Amino acid sequence: MLTTDLPVVIIGAGLAGLACAARLHAEQVPVVVLEAAEAVGGRIRTDVVDGFTIDRGFQVLNTAYPALQTGVDVDRLALRRLPRGVRIRRQGALHDIRHPLASPGAALGDLTTSVVGLRSKVALARYVASSVAARPSTIKGRADVEARAAWAQLPDDVVDDVLTAFFAGVVLEAEITTSRVFTDLMMRMFVHGNSAVPAAGMQALPEELARQLPAGTVRLGTPVASVVEGGVALADGPVLEARGVVVAADPWTAHELLPELGAPPAARAVTTYYFAAAPWADIDPLLTLDADGSGVVNSVVLTASAPEYSTDGRALVATSVLHATGRPVLDAAAAQAAARELHQAPGGDWELVATRDVPHALPAMTAPHPLRKPVEVIPDRLWVAGDHRDTSSIQGALVSGRRTANLVATALRSATAGRTR
Ligand SMILES: Cc1cc2nc3c(=O)[nH]c(=O)nc-3n(C[C@H](O)[C@H](O)[C@H](O)COP(=O)(O)OP(=O)(O)OC[C@H]3O[C@@H](n4cnc5c(N)ncnc54)[C@H](O)[C@@H]3O)c2cc1C
Repeated sequence: MLTTDLPVVIIGAGLAGLACAARLHAEQVPVVVLEAAEAVGGRIRTDVVDGFTIDRGFQVLNTAYPALQTGVDVDRLALRRLPRGVRIRRQGALHDIRHPLASPGAALGDLTTSVVGLRSKVALARYVASSVAARPSTIKGRADVEARAAWAQLPDDVVDDVLTAFFAGVVLEAEITTSRVFTDLMMRMFVHGNSAVPAAGMQALPEELARQLPAGTVRLGTPVASVVEGGVALADGPVLEARGVVVAADPWTAHELLPELGAPPAARAVTTYYFAAAPWADIDPLLTLDADGSGVVNSVVLTASAPEYSTDGRALVATSVLHATGRPVLDAAAAQAAARELHQAPGGDWELVATRDVPHALPAMTAPHPLRKPVEVIPDRLWVAGDHRDTSSIQGALVSGRRTANLVATALRSATAGRTR
């Protein structure tokens, strides 16, 4: 039963939980956020290791994400933008694709000196334009098949050496069985916006959301054991009464807390190795991909765009690899050797500063994937939020939190109206 003097309890202070809390707070609904970890952020956390800013797995936000345009004071993040485009190694040579991702009109000319042949360049430019020029609602109306199937009409070199090489690092799987609606929407974002990191590291984003909440709203180090009638049971015993509960835990914990959601999604995994290196001449800031199959899914000299990520003047290189059979496909030494080649870095010591293994990085979005899953679990009482209800991304997590908050606020308003009638 809903009683008005109790708060809505949100389980989890990741982006979805924080966005949900911020929206409810703006609606003057009292909220408490219970977070198991000792800091906010969930899958977006940052550590400082030997003076280097180390995100828990390489990740970026996209400045074109619609969910960042409201409710986030982006100026406070001091964003450091990576250049648009990618650098791809193919048959031992490096090719830059800048303009096709920045401006489809310029695609053809730029691609003439680039990674694939002329017929392929035209096909790639057409594919990019088909997502860039389309409205999101049009893309959402497309038949949702696996992206690889949607690319079946494209030349093999476009699929293998450009699209797969790029999207494998976005959806964290090499077969690209992910929803083509999602990859098309992401392509649109990559053209319209920049990939960026806050100067202080990715955790600055959830911290900015938490800042909007009154002190004491987020209770850190407070794991929830279960959802019970009228509230939640904390792992250390007591029950916290609640006017309503929003489960904004990671997808896999959410499915444990709420068995009615059914089977949990498969997890996409990634490992990022962070290397410190003496800066070399001609460091390029582009995200570098490998179509030659070294096992590196992408690698970037973070300090070329975000110099604050290093405090001693050395370059910080983030080199990511996917997992196979539960393990990263390359160990640190092999990843370092591949990354040196990809960045054309000369000899000299590279120091492994940190390894971030993230076996549960993204919930899989294997096609067909509904862009919006239901979030009401028990009417007027229990809801769920998180990237697994929308899309596996910063955009998806923020949208999900706000979407759920809107439903909660509506339910509470009608409950209040019912009582006063
Ligand atoms: C390595 C990596 C790279 C990524 N790259 C990108 C990228 O480049 N671009 C992009 O848009 N997205 C990227 N993502 C995805 C994006 O980070 C996530 O989609 C988003 O952060 C998910 O937020 P969330 O709030 O849904 O879940 P989470 O961040 O998982 O938050 C859930 C929170 O619930 C807490 N919790 C869990 N159980 C309990 C409990 N029992 N009691 C209390 N609290 C609990 C957790 O501690 C956590 O803080 C990446 C993710 C990873 C991990």
